[in-house]
Amino acid sequence: MQTADVVIIGGGIVGASIAYHLTAAGTKNVLILERESHQGKGSTGKSMGGVRAQFSTPVNIQMSLYSIPFYASFEERLGHPCGYKAQGYLFLATSQAHLDYLTANQKTQRSLGLKNVGMVDTGDLRKMYPQLRTDDVLGASFCPSDGFVDPYSAMTGFTACAVENGARILRGTEVAAIERDSSTFRLRTSKGDVIALVVVNASGPWAAEVAKMVGVDLPVTPLRRMLIPTEPSEAFPHTAPMIVDMSNGFHFRPEALGFLLAWNDPEENTPGYNTDFDPAFIEKVLTRAADRVPCFENLAVNPKRAWAGLYEMTPDHHAILGPVPEVPGFFLANGFSGHGVMHAPATGKILSDLIVKGATELIDVRKLRLTRFAEGDLIHETALL
Ligand SMILES: Cc1cc2nc3c(=O)[nH]c(=O)nc-3n(C[C@H](O)[C@H](O)[C@H](O)COP(=O)(O)OP(=O)(O)OC[C@H]3O[C@@H](n4cnc5c(N)ncnc54)[C@H](O)[C@@H]3O)c2cc1C
Repeated sequence: MQTADVVIIGGGIVGASIAYHLTAAGTKNVLILERESHQGKGSTGKSMGGVRAQFSTPVNIQMSLYSIPFYASFEERLGHPCGYKAQGYLFLATSQAHLDYLTANQKTQRSLGLKNVGMVDTGDLRKMYPQLRTDDVLGASFCPSDGFVDPYSAMTGFTACAVENGARILRGTEVAAIERDSSTFRLRTSKGDVIALVVVNASGPWAAEVAKMVGVDLPVTPLRRMLIPTEPSEAFPHTAPMIVDMSNGFHFRPEALGFLLAWNDPEENTPGYNTDFDPAFIEKVLTRAADRVPCFENLAVNPKRAWAGLYEMTPDHHAILGPVPEVPGFFLANGFSGHGVMHAPATGKILSDLIVKGATELIDVRKLRLTRFAEGDLIHETALL
């Protein structure tokens, strides 16, 4: 029988970051339980890897303000690469409402310490990226320290470092049930029982199922999201940022020798675990790609290389972090609503602080408490992709 001070259910980027931060804070007996034989088969391995501080709510901005510098110094800190590329995020405004929105967001972002975010006027935009159709663009918001990471590398880096610091990981180990007595948890797993003092739910889109094992109703639902990688192409500079067309939500970034194309399809709104790629999505995305970048009209894509994964949605599109009051010792790190890669470093630090010290200074974590839903105290993030 295995025992641990802290068991983390889920070995994706969030569980791995929590294990890293806990061991870096001196917690020795940390155990990650991952049901798959390899890590990264959940959302982490399907992610677009975008990292940005250009959000609208203070709590999301603050989580990025910890996470992005962390990624920038990842190799120095952990001795493993995470593939951070500071190529920026560029939001293209096509209405006055967009411009006002971006300007208001920048004010909040600057007040919290993001110094390098600014507006780009359409003339400069044309000079920077003449390939973009800008006749309807009124301006853009750009932050050069936003960019992308390689989620798989970051996850394996966090895990390797946690293990070097004394953590353990059991792969191919599914948690099927959790029993609790006055001071300990007994986890029934596919490889036998595990006894733990503290349990962290880091099970991504499956978080509600795991929460149910301790009788907690967690409002996290899985939602399919698809990405299309193109064949190699020089149609647009490979130094480009993530470019977001606010008129319809289409966004793209350079990836390897081609580009990664994404769009939040409003018809994709039925929660579920389906991760089959729908070939009809290609036409929808390519139409929007060619509309904003006319030379993308001839982009080649191979449907066999496209994929689908799961966002882990909450009703207010913010994560749910922290303890569950009625189940002492049970912690949540769930519901990132598509931002779990960029917020994994902050989440690791926050959960480690809460478990080790009972409090964190990184954010006002009360804002992300589970009970906000029952209390009707939701926080709406509108800068969604
Ligand atoms: C197409 C797509 C694009 C995205 N783009 C971005 C982006 O640009 N930027 C960004 O920040 N985020 C993005 N995301 C979201 C991001 O990928 C997720 O928020 C993040 O990976 C969540 O990490 P996680 O560790 O919580 O979950 P996961 O990576 O899903 O890990 C959870 C793990 O828990 C394991 N597990 C589940 N149940 C059990 C159990 N009972 N017992 C044991 N193990 C269990 C699973 O096997 C899995 O490995 C994207 C997601 C998708 C699908």
